[in-house]
Amino acid sequence: MNLPKLFPTSVVGSLPRPEWLLEAIQKHERGELDEDELRSFYDDAVKLAIKEQESAGIDIVSDGEQRRFSFLAFVAEKLSSLQMRPVTDMMNEEAQKWVDRMNLPVDIIQNPIIVGKIKRETPLAVDELQFAKRYTEKPIKVPLIGPYTLWINSWNRKLSSSLYPRPEDAVDDVAKLLREEIVALREAGASFVQLDEPGIGNFTDYRYARFQLAMHEWRVDDLKELHGLAVDIINRAVRGIGGIRTGVHVCRGNWPAEERYLSVGGYAPMLPDMLDLRVDQLVLELATPRAGGVEVFQDHPTDHEIGLGVIDVKSPEVETPEKIVGMVKKALRIFEPDKIWLNPDCGFASGRPWPVATRETAFAKLRAQTEAAKMLRAEFS
Ligand SMILES: [Zn+2]
Repeated sequence: MNLPKLFPTSVVGSLPRPEWLLEAIQKHERGELDEDELRSFYDDAVKLAIKEQESAGIDIVSDGEQRRFSFLAFVAEKLSSLQMRPVTDMMNEEAQKWVDRMNLPVDIIQNPIIVGKIKRETPLAVDELQFAKRYTEKPIKVPLIGPYTLWINSWNRKLSSSLYPRPEDAVDDVAKLLREEIVALREAGASFVQLDEPGIGNFTDYRYARFQLAMHEWRVDDLKELHGLAVDIINRAVRGIGGIRTGVHVCRGNWPAEERYLSVGGYAPMLPDMLDLRVDQLVLELATPRAGGVEVFQDHPTDHEIGLGVIDVKSPEVETPEKIVGMVKKALRIFEPDKIWLNPDCGFASGRPWPVATRETAFAKLRAQTEAAKMLRAEFS
């Protein structure tokens, strides 16, 4: 892979969609635009997202996730075994307690629910990759829903237990689904597959995890058990796969745009479990104050590359390159320079109707990240 030796830059995945794409999607929903016409809008939006990343100097680009409703929902659009269901259909007294406590806008949340035997009937993201490859010479990162986050969102006792009596009975099939996709993405020329695991980020304060467990009627005695289960299902999905860089992205959620709904807390509760992940890179949210500090890794040495979150995607203020350099230097007290990558905390769009940044702000932030990488390379090479 043709990358700078030090401080390669990347994105976590999504970029805000252009206004004309959102309008086209609405027209399509009203029946005023057919599938082919809508596809040409998506195609143009992906070309633009790639070119903007190239102009911003990003070393390893994504397709901007322009085609996906959200990082989670897009798999349900591809597979008949998963069906998007409104969370309000699955509520019960215990779940409602957590909704009230977090003041969650529950009426607009949907989950992909297991309603059939999970198998990879069709590729999940290979088509996106193939299209993107036609428009860039840069190496491409493909973000993919992580197996733990998919699993904990999708097994519901009422709706899924006739197929998989217990949540753990679905683990093999969920891991296999993603494993097959990672291999297919490697064959199709992806340079990096990133598994998105905000479910792990929910271990910081457990509020959202408790809501999910209650809603899906999972029986878990000790919430810490979830840590081992998360590591296990991810490792099953990636173990032994060579020839492609793999990563796990951990954040505290990116939905909806309001920060008050998101998990809060540093990485301490997830360590050292997180370091048992058999992936090349941990792509970590670290710029937002909600993520705590990087110092927590001091007592937990690791060989992983660290995708260091240096851009707060929720803040409209554009970071200066100097500020980013300062953040990286803090991390350099713990990690070797050749292990550090630079990326934003998360995607810039949290699901289709909810961008977290404007396109202009996202672009300016990525430019600042590139400038910071140049300054760091000058100093450390
Ligand atoms: Zn994220």
